[in-house]
Amino acid sequence: MAPRQKKCSFCGRSERDAELLISGIDGYICNECAEQAHEIVLANVKKPSRLKMKDLPKPAEIKAYLDKYVIGQKDAKKTLSVAVYNHYKRLNHPEAEDDVELEKSNIIMVGSTGTGKTLLARTIAKLLVVPFAIVDATVLTEAGYVGEDVESLLTRLLQAADGDVNQAECGIVFIDEIDKIARKGDNPSITRDVSGEGVQQGLLKLLEGSVVNVPPQGGRKHPEQQFIQVNTKNILFICGGAFDGIEKRIAQRLNTHVVGFDASRNVAKLDKSNMMQYIAPMDLKSFGLIPEIIGRLPILTHLEPLDRTALLRILTEPKNSIIKQYIRLFALDGVKLTFADGVFDYIVDKAVEFKLGARGLRSLVETVMMDVMYEIPSQHVSKYEVTVDYAKSKVEKANMFVLKEKTEDK
Ligand code: ADP
Repeated sequence: MAPRQKKCSFCGRSERDAELLISGIDGYICNECAEQAHEIVLANVKKPSRLKMKDLPKPAEIKAYLDKYVIGQKDAKKTLSVAVYNHYKRLNHPEAEDDVELEKSNIIMVGSTGTGKTLLARTIAKLLVVPFAIVDATVLTEAGYVGEDVESLLTRLLQAADGDVNQAECGIVFIDEIDKIARKGDNPSITRDVSGEGVQQGLLKLLEGSVVNVPPQGGRKHPEQQFIQVNTKNILFICGGAFDGIEKRIAQRLNTHVVGFDASRNVAKLDKSNMMQYIAPMDLKSFGLIPEIIGRLPILTHLEPLDRTALLRILTEPKNSIIKQYIRLFALDGVKLTFADGVFDYIVDKAVEFKLGARGLRSLVETVMMDVMYEIPSQHVSKYEVTVDYAKSKVEKANMFVLKEKTEDK
């Protein structure tokens, strides 16, 4: 008898027509049918959304993990660790047996640009067992204007959950640059503020917890599109923003509010180099966030400005620090890369001098290393040391203004 021709048991494609035939005990499936089957499974089989408490990292463990990647920022790390842990707890106990309903506590993180807000969010994402999305508030505008609807923030979360609505409804959304939707000017009624207050009103609905229609492809809603309904009741929102210039408002408030006998003493005690630590909800209000939004972000935390010591640590200490990455790149070519004493100090000095911040460290190291990276692979050497003089010669040749712009673009 002639051997039976191999063909997909689902669509009948022969071995010749299918790209791939996977064999089973009593039949075959082609790659296309397998993919389709996968989609059907995703759409129809509900994954258990209950998280096992005993397997979840405790706040101290979450913080220890963040410590490996993010330098300093103790307050923000603690706040985030507790918030994520509590989020898990709430998900585990949705129905209150004793009428004590665990309410979610969305967070707002305030800190100058380049102090690690996004890095904290990205790092925590690696540890999470719920879907997590980082989204940007700058693209949002009020419905009907060029830009994106607030609901599109949830599109990313749905994607992170592979389209599984149940999973997405337990997720966490990090909204970056929340300060960019602050109300422009004190009087909202003079001109229409389509990317400010209107967006905040839209966002409020999400933060409060409601069922919203999410466009699965993101962007602007249009009538022909099919929406997916997502309930935001259990979604944790973490917002971050630089709030440029808010220190001045904090200082003003502190100076005007402390009056009387104790005033001068209290003001003298203020640490002027880090006004952010005194931030209070009313400063966010004076910056242009509407009170309702502030009320829905009950946990307010701040990031410290990065001083020289912090920058030096950022260069070398994190698990994937810039320097460790370069050493690894060279090791892949069989070259042992070292840095002479003083090179790191020099790089940090330049970052401070040109106000490049932590982001500038990478640009500076890249400037120093560019020629070495070009030449070393063809020189057949087994080790290379970057000296202070070499680093200086490269940085001095570079145009610091270009470097500053490059850093700001990142
Ligand atoms: P932000 O979101 O606050 O503007 P980022 O988190 O994007 O700043 O930081 C920019 C880059 O600077 C990060 O990718 C990281 O390389 C570095 N960086 C900033 N702050 C820290 C920090 N506290 N610890 C380690 N690296 C940091």
